[in-house]
Amino acid sequence: MAKTFKQLMDEARASVPEWSIDQVKSELDNGNGRVLLDVREKEEFREGHLNGALSIPRGFLEIQVEEKIPDKDTPIIAYCAGGTRSLLAARHLGEMGYANVISMIGGYSAWKGAGYPWAQVRKFTPEQMARYSRHFLLSEVGEAGQAKLMDAKILCVGAGGLGSPAALYLAAAGVGTLGIVDDDVVDLSNLQRQILHTNDRVGELKIESARKTINALNPDVKVVGYPERLTSANIMRIFADEDYDVIVDGCDNFPTRYLINDACVMSGKPNVHGSIFQFEGQVTVFHPGHGPCYRCLFPEPPPPGAAPSCAEAGVLGVLPGLIGCVQALEAIKLILGVGKPLVGRMIYFDTLSMELRSHKLRQDRECPVCGENPTITALVDYEEFCGLRQAPPEQSRILQVAAGR
Ligand SMILES: [Zn+2]
Repeated sequence: MAKTFKQLMDEARASVPEWSIDQVKSELDNGNGRVLLDVREKEEFREGHLNGALSIPRGFLEIQVEEKIPDKDTPIIAYCAGGTRSLLAARHLGEMGYANVISMIGGYSAWKGAGYPWAQVRKFTPEQMARYSRHFLLSEVGEAGQAKLMDAKILCVGAGGLGSPAALYLAAAGVGTLGIVDDDVVDLSNLQRQILHTNDRVGELKIESARKTINALNPDVKVVGYPERLTSANIMRIFADEDYDVIVDGCDNFPTRYLINDACVMSGKPNVHGSIFQFEGQVTVFHPGHGPCYRCLFPEPPPPGAAPSCAEAGVLGVLPGLIGCVQALEAIKLILGVGKPLVGRMIYFDTLSMELRSHKLRQDRECPVCGENPTITALVDYEEFCGLRQAPPEQSRILQVAAGR
């Protein structure tokens, strides 16, 4: 025979411990690491919730809870608006094997009414709700993560082969502010790989072309263009201009690469590094204080003429797309604080054999810029070097370093 609502509630009360808001408050103040589970609808959660609460609406509990709280011994405090839905939800969780679930009497209304702290997620417009809906479905991103991305400021050095895909995907993901440093104009020979730019923009400043493409994709993104070549005189001003959180190095020459590295070490900013050569590419994250920097691997630049540029060596069109996308991904992981960043690891792609290798990189205590006794304490402008292909490409040197040679 079907049970009445009252019978269901009585049964739930008999099996689920209930705590007052004061008990919950003191438990949280003691930092006992319980999961706060908000079982109200998403709209209610958005209006306000307990700090740090996990949102799983009652109707999605069975589907989502095992993914979001895999350990069934996790202590959980469930709450709803008034204490009824959470009691029934807690009982149901008990039936699913969750052994340590408490329901909060009076729910969020009582909590807020008592003047206890609460939080509100960013209000998204209906367009943003639709645009980022696939991010909202991921518990690692969700509304809180999307808000972080929208508050994030990322500087892309170069709107070329690497900067194009990186900036496009960062813009698509909703990164709020994108700085782009590039003093070059679009050339027909760029279009084979620099997908920010189009045929009708040949001769236009790359930062202006980039702004058009990015804002056509996502008008929410603030694009800050710097039509300058990075030097020791302007790099710190540009880094500080929007107080960028992450630097994406998509430059194509050694003087700029060393300049970015040193400026990142000196300002403590993570540097998502990518480089390409013909059919091969590599990507890593230099995060000051967390792992090595570029000079830990190569203390000084190669002599002028020893390393070829793209213009001399050629590059397969799709390759910077792969590397630039990994750079965008790593930048997003850093902003969200999820996953394992590529710090102290170099991913190396060989697109002809389609082999992907990962090498551990170590911080060098003798490093001239991030070591214990740094000898480089001011930014250096190395002279531009272009030259013939004589020395082995950079990545083979990386492999030698990684192999301890
Ligand atoms: Zn270093």
